[in-house]
Amino acid sequence: MTSSFSNLSLAPPLARAVAEMGYETMTPIQEQAIPVVLTGQDVMGAAQTGTGKTAAFSLPLLQRLLKHENTSTSPARHPVRALVLLPTRELADQVAQQVAMYAKYTNLRSTVVFGGMDMKPQTLELKKGVEVLVATPGRLLDHIEAKNAVLNQVEYVVLDEADRMLDIGFLPDLQRILSFLPKQRTTLLFSATFSPEIKRLAGSYLQDPVTIEVARPNETASTVEQRFYSANDDDKRRAIHQVLKTRDIKQAFIFVNSKLGCARLARSLEREGLKTTALHGDKSQDERLKALNAFKAGEVDLLVATDVAARGLDIKDVPAVFNFDVPFNAEDYVHRIGRTGRAGASGLAVTLVSGSDARLIADIEKLLKTKIEIEALEYDEDRPRERINTGRRAWGGDDPRDVLDAPRERRERPQRSERGERSERGESSRGFRPAVASRDPFFDKPYVEPDVAEVAEAPAWERGAATQPARAGVSANIKSRRKVAALFKTTA
Ligand code: AMP
Repeated sequence: MTSSFSNLSLAPPLARAVAEMGYETMTPIQEQAIPVVLTGQDVMGAAQTGTGKTAAFSLPLLQRLLKHENTSTSPARHPVRALVLLPTRELADQVAQQVAMYAKYTNLRSTVVFGGMDMKPQTLELKKGVEVLVATPGRLLDHIEAKNAVLNQVEYVVLDEADRMLDIGFLPDLQRILSFLPKQRTTLLFSATFSPEIKRLAGSYLQDPVTIEVARPNETASTVEQRFYSANDDDKRRAIHQVLKTRDIKQAFIFVNSKLGCARLARSLEREGLKTTALHGDKSQDERLKALNAFKAGEVDLLVATDVAARGLDIKDVPAVFNFDVPFNAEDYVHRIGRTGRAGASGLAVTLVSGSDARLIADIEKLLKTKIEIEALEYDEDRPRERINTGRRAWGGDDPRDVLDAPRERRERPQRSERGERSERGESSRGFRPAVASRDPFFDKPYVEPDVAEVAEAPAWERGAATQPARAGVSANIKSRRKVAALFKTTA
């Protein structure tokens, strides 16, 4: 039985903000965590993005901070009382936006600091005084070192997406930050999983925490229709067009495994008439936020993203998610499909499976504890495609490890650049960078039909669609309107 926000005795300014957000019933994590946080106890919460956990910790935390509320303009009257740490800029930005909305009718101030942005405006905000500071660890340490952030009056600290922070290698930074905080405080830790490392972190920094676990999205998202279609690398874009058309889908996320693949796919889909934007680790923060806002505003149909870039994006009710590449990490499958079918809305998750993906599919089956059936997709019309085998892989690089977003983040510690700025995602200059790292000039100029020379440069999989308008006919690889053998047969 889910309970209503009106059952909580939230202070009127907070209750008003919640009502304005349109929330009526609490999500399971809110139902369990809010009463505990209101008592000031430490919490160890197993909950992922999309479960409503931001409100689960922000609302009770703001309620407890209301006693410090004041209208003084003196920065000294607005010391940092609550610190929320997150692994990525996007997550930090989204959480900060939510906190600001919940605190809208109070006199409590909040701000956010993360890397990849000029420190000056952040410094100005910090110097004015804020009660709630949302931050990524690297940039926060920069501000602590510059004496812009003083944390000796912090009463609450939230370690959000703690597993992700450890994955990225933020443990030493977290330890340093926590060493600046008063011992007497409430600590809230949220993590998708309680791995041994997370338990160790909790053991060191939490006191008698109340453990709260809510069902993982893969267990709750029965509203997501999951489909697995066999499609070789050359057919995948066509499969996307087909599904968009037959299911009348207006907007979708498309996940890929590499940055380069991301940019290429976005370009190809754009050429094929779909308003598409790429979201990957080489995009600047500003570009990512712009892409996100354009998608939210409906100006963009498709957002092609890597796991790193998309993690935690606060976009609800995306009608469909495509896995253009089967993720290397089965957990990422769960994160990806969590973008659709949220908050009770129905969603479609389509995974395009090629012959070499059997092991990855087996990993997903193991995680979900279900057998996956791989179907053949039926196309409206088949078209022959000439292929010139360049020997290049579908992801377009010689070695996929050069361009992957996710695995490198796990391998490398965040690096401090020469300018003293820290890469939040370990995307240091050591990794792959395309010649034009932050701006894709393709989107600045109208599409021009590629000439022959250009075509010869393009990888085979792009060349097929860029040069071959859809024509009726039967591909050597696709049998029209007939089921082809599943890649590997599964039993119910
Ligand atoms: P989170 O897991 O905190 O990232 O929240 C995911 C999304 O759910 C956010 O867009 C929230 O605005 C929204 N949300 C949070 N709590 C509720 C609620 N009780 N009812 C409806 N939507 C909510």
